[in-house]
Amino acid sequence: MAMSDVCERCKKPDTDVGKLASYKNHELDKLLCQNCIEEIDDYYSLRCSKCDKPAHLRGTLIEYKNEKICTICMDEIRLKEDSD
Ligand SMILES: [Zn+2]
Ligand SMILES: [Zn+2]
Repeated sequence: MAMSDVCERCKKPDTDVGKLASYKNHELDKLLCQNCIEEIDDYYSLRCSKCDKPAHLRGTLIEYKNEKICTICMDEIRLKEDSD
């Protein structure tokens, strides 16, 4: 009996999402669909506009004056604004 493979992230079968690939970046080792691989790559390629650290190391990014700022830089900006 031929079992269809299921993406380990979105849990959709390859009959729905297309061919699955084994993904071994970012300390992951999973069988994923192309959508999930794209989302993960996007996620890890995001950087804070201020400190340029990868966003995943510093929590989520916040939209601020058309820039994406990490929560740590955002705290600094808010502190500065409060003291002005
Ligand atoms: Zn998937
Ligand atoms: Zn930052």
